[in-house]
Amino acid sequence: MTQHEPKKQFKVAVIVPAFNEQANLAHLTDELVSILKAYPDYEILFVNDGSTDDTLSVLKQLRQKNTHIHYVSFSRNFGHQYALKAGLDYVDGDCVISMDADLQHPPRLIPALVDAWQSGAYDIVSTQRREIKEESWFKRVSSRLFYRFFNFITGLSLPPGAADFRLLDRRVVATLRALPERGLFLRGMISWIGYRQKIIPYTPAPRFAGKSSYTLKRMLALAIVGATSFSSKPLRLAVYLGLSVALLGCLLTAYVLYMRLWNGSVISGWASLMCVVLILGGAQLFVMGIIGEYIGMIFGEAKHRPTYIVAETSLEQKRK
Ligand code: UDP
Ligand code: MG
Repeated sequence: MTQHEPKKQFKVAVIVPAFNEQANLAHLTDELVSILKAYPDYEILFVNDGSTDDTLSVLKQLRQKNTHIHYVSFSRNFGHQYALKAGLDYVDGDCVISMDADLQHPPRLIPALVDAWQSGAYDIVSTQRREIKEESWFKRVSSRLFYRFFNFITGLSLPPGAADFRLLDRRVVATLRALPERGLFLRGMISWIGYRQKIIPYTPAPRFAGKSSYTLKRMLALAIVGATSFSSKPLRLAVYLGLSVALLGCLLTAYVLYMRLWNGSVISGWASLMCVVLILGGAQLFVMGIIGEYIGMIFGEAKHRPTYIVAETSLEQKRK
């Protein structure tokens, strides 16, 4: 094994996307600062994702008390993945940790992440959520299904429970900044870019205050972006589906002909006809839907709109 040089003078940066998190920010900041001040230098960058509560004014107050704290504030709600991307674009640190604002990602895990990176052996230190009983049955099952489905579709191997709580080396941040895609699924991108990765398991805490903004609709949207932006396998599956349905039709036709010509019986049945029509119609719409998702994705990329719009920030510019 090669010996790695431990890093000595370095800056730890933390990015925190926040959407209506006014009641969590002060507490989170206290916990973060108490941990981060042990390092040579640090910064905390909050990304206000178009909150409708007092998140922005709380951030401004926090910054007045501590100049290590920065914020980037969006012109409207763009979504968690885009807030993370903005964080990566604006942050400055030798290692960059992203985490949620609601204290579900325990700040006390930060030293373990930084230690793994500091040894010089890893560029990405990811975390993996342990399943907890308090989580709703639905969330557990849907999350497990999602990772199975995603890995099957993309051929990548995201660990089940991969979270957007991870440490990235400066080099990795630069690589992610340079990826121009608009349909963002960072967990997949991190798995795709490679580098030396380590995974640390953690037990999520309950949300400190407020409520989750990841509804079923949002989770589904994220799953579809993830699947379509990482693989064209769904299109291949659509081809197979079409072929199998056509084959089934041929077999059925052969059977009908046989009954008519050799058995002399006519198969009557409005019901069976309806079933075939509906199943076929459904399969066609489904396949068109898959194609549509890809066209939508291409449309989104082709417009070349920015992925997010920053209304105000405590920083002068992106530190690209
Ligand atoms: N978040 C965001 N924009 C959104 C929704 C969520 O920046 O449109 C942030 C939110 O403030 C939190 C993190 O993303 O820091 C995770 O969101 P949440 O806790 O609602 O999701 P859950 O933990 O239930 O998956
Ligand atoms: Mg949460």
